[in-house]
Amino acid sequence: MAHLPSLHSRLPHVGTTIFSVMSALAAEHRAVNLGQGFPDFDCDPALVDAVHEAMKSGHNQYPPMPGVPLLRQRIADKLARQYGRAADPDTEITITAGATQAILTALLALVHPGDEVIVLEPCYDSYGPAIDLAGGKTVRVALDPITFRPDFDRLRSAMTAKTRAVIVNSPHNPTGVVWRHDEWDALAECLRGTSAWLISDEVYEHMVFDAHQHGGVWGHPELAHRSLMISSFGKSYHVTGWKLGFVAAPAALTVEFRKVHQFNVFTVNTPMQYGLAAFMANPHHHENLSAFYQAKRDHFCAGLAQTPLRLLPCEGTYFVCAEYEAISRTSDSEFCRWLTTDVGVAAIPLSAFYAQAPTRQRIRFCFAKQTATLDLALQRLRALTPLK
Ligand code: PMP
Ligand code: GLN
Repeated sequence: MAHLPSLHSRLPHVGTTIFSVMSALAAEHRAVNLGQGFPDFDCDPALVDAVHEAMKSGHNQYPPMPGVPLLRQRIADKLARQYGRAADPDTEITITAGATQAILTALLALVHPGDEVIVLEPCYDSYGPAIDLAGGKTVRVALDPITFRPDFDRLRSAMTAKTRAVIVNSPHNPTGVVWRHDEWDALAECLRGTSAWLISDEVYEHMVFDAHQHGGVWGHPELAHRSLMISSFGKSYHVTGWKLGFVAAPAALTVEFRKVHQFNVFTVNTPMQYGLAAFMANPHHHENLSAFYQAKRDHFCAGLAQTPLRLLPCEGTYFVCAEYEAISRTSDSEFCRWLTTDVGVAAIPLSAFYAQAPTRQRIRFCFAKQTATLDLALQRLRALTPLK
């Protein structure tokens, strides 16, 4: 056999993501898949029609590098309406291939080898590898282990002269915590006078329940100037497979972001951008999302309350976490595997969101599902019995 060069992995500790692993296991065992975060119902047919219309009208070649101008205008309108601060669609908004690409691109644009990037743990699984690829060092700061709220004393003590960026995520995957206004203010205070940029992952910006409100960085008088706000059309319009998102950031930051973006993907697909622009003319589509998902949360949580699982609070996102210590003493990965293969419901182990698996026995369910799907899962989960 011909001699091949050695494979010196850029990501030696990374395997296939837990979301793909659990979805494959769920399919293999015909389990109800409440693991990976995606809806099992379709998007609004009007959105598909709008994309079809764009294709038929010949919008099938490269759009401008930062994205279709009308879609950027719609995002600017949305930001102004929701967060009370205008955005310049030409210089401050870029359309990306989902939030994942936006996060990686932001890190590649900001981080130099040796720089430190702080993440608040538990956190979404792409952050660490993306920091590695940018040559940065991941500094993990724990969220409060019980409430999962940010601890700003810990954040402050983790910041050094090398801290180049901090990544935050609210509404939070996997815990469903939504930051309060005073927490955004405390973050601004922590960052004041430092050389750290803020990458704010707000993909669940339109899924906030009860009396909670999503603050975010765009409308924050201090944070807006040092932040990239990242969102995902996949989450907001039930089209996770389209892989479209956006980044809103001040002009100087956007210039650097786009330098990398143009050689990363150059631009993202044209007809779906036109379709989304047409659909977003009606802001009620995303403004009704919180009520839509709150009803699902309430239905699912009411059912879970009748099982030995102990529910954790859920203020936003389409995830809810539960503790299973009354049922089993196995690790969360083993428990999720067993739940999928033997009980017929797939969930995600919370350890997937940590570098070092915590000892608490917690799992995450996604409730972005049809009522019949949630009911089937609940029927199976009701068969769980407490340890003797
Ligand atoms: N950030 C968080 C917190 C997420 O849960 C997800 C998962 N969708 C993403 C980023 C990635 O979003 P996208 O599918 O648009 O790449
Ligand atoms: N964000 C989704 C989740 O947390 C999944 C994204 C993915 O599969 N990579 O479940």
